[in-house]
Amino acid sequence: MDHFNYKGGALHAEDVALAEIARAVGTPVYVYSTATLTRHFNLFRQALDWTDHLVCFAVKANSNLAVLKLLGDLGAGMDVVSGGEYARARAAGVPGERIVFSGVGKTREEMAQAIRGGIRQFNVESEPELAALSQVAQSLGATVPIAVRVNPDVDAKTHAKIATGKSENKFGIPIARAREVYAHAAALPGLQVVGIDMHIGSQLTDLEPFRQAYTRMADLCLALRADGHPIMRLDLGGGLGIPYRRDNAAPPLPIEYGQVVRETVGDLGCEIEIEPGRNIAGNAGVLLASVIWTKQGEGRDFLIVDAAMNDLIRPAMYDAHHDILPVRERAPGTDPAPVDVVGPVCETGDTFARGVPLPRLEDGELVAFRSAGAYGAVMASEYNSRPLVPEVLVAGDRFDVIRPRPTIEEMLARDRIPDWLT
Ligand SMILES: *Cc1c(COP(=O)(O)O)cnc(C)c1O
Repeated sequence: MDHFNYKGGALHAEDVALAEIARAVGTPVYVYSTATLTRHFNLFRQALDWTDHLVCFAVKANSNLAVLKLLGDLGAGMDVVSGGEYARARAAGVPGERIVFSGVGKTREEMAQAIRGGIRQFNVESEPELAALSQVAQSLGATVPIAVRVNPDVDAKTHAKIATGKSENKFGIPIARAREVYAHAAALPGLQVVGIDMHIGSQLTDLEPFRQAYTRMADLCLALRADGHPIMRLDLGGGLGIPYRRDNAAPPLPIEYGQVVRETVGDLGCEIEIEPGRNIAGNAGVLLASVIWTKQGEGRDFLIVDAAMNDLIRPAMYDAHHDILPVRERAPGTDPAPVDVVGPVCETGDTFARGVPLPRLEDGELVAFRSAGAYGAVMASEYNSRPLVPEVLVAGDRFDVIRPRPTIEEMLARDRIPDWLT
């Protein structure tokens, strides 16, 4: 459930008409709902309320400071994968003891930044990283809590580009080598083994891969404890999928996911950490765009909108589907005609949807791409010198720009022409 609905024939974000935002800010623009972000975060909290837990929002899904502040103020922890994301979480007021640092290629500078600033735990993904972290921690006179990311070799049954838990993926250490790697970690100065970490992929629409992975984690937890490691935390990663098509069977709910967690690792007495990103932010955002015009092609019509692959790359990158809604409501079944919805960027890949039934849309009319709150604005670029897409946050009947659209002058001003060219 989200808070983007028609009221009086016009699509709203909570109590704000999207047309009003388009008038004030222009298009394209991302619009997020405070109520939906809050609701989704609370659903995860409730799903784990049977145990000690921390819901760490995966910052990479949506890293706008206002979104992080909103979630952080609700009590969320943060899962970060770079020094930049760590800085964002801190700037949003999240204390270091609620931040976990994931990622296969942390630099020594990033390690030092997080150790100095305060960190709940590093999720370590390799033996070279263990050695480096041990050195950095020692050089700062610190002892840092770590979990080792274990690759359970399960098939997450999701898009290949977002599957991370198979042995051929770059993530984590093979579960078969876990005991050896933990023994190595425990022997290194500056590190304190506190837990086990996993993250098997994103947009999972089936609970079975989670069940398999977490069952393996439970076995590993017992084996590591038998080896003398004080495993007190289990970080289960993120990955629970969202409905990208309103009319499709919905993926499992957070409460059902929480049940699987309870059944698999619930009796180990560990604090549970989870790292949902998409499920909190995905359906809490839309990308609002204007129709430029419709172009008649050979045997197909192209609806050309002012948003493009540089603003929302998921269709081009993951073959992702986003429902597209006219902001002005139509009576159901008003002569929908299949169109290809495309942006202005000079790439054939700049196609949002092929052959989708949409009512006839006037030039200048607004459309909303649903489910765009996660992996949307964070992946935006200025390709084709299109200024970076702005973001707006709605709360009830108010809205605020949380990232303004740069002017073309501001965009150009970032480049430098060397002396020898002038
Ligand atoms: C991407 C990622 C997440 C979040 O995944 P979602 O599918 O958005 O929930 C969590 N943890 C790690 C380590 C990640 O890389």
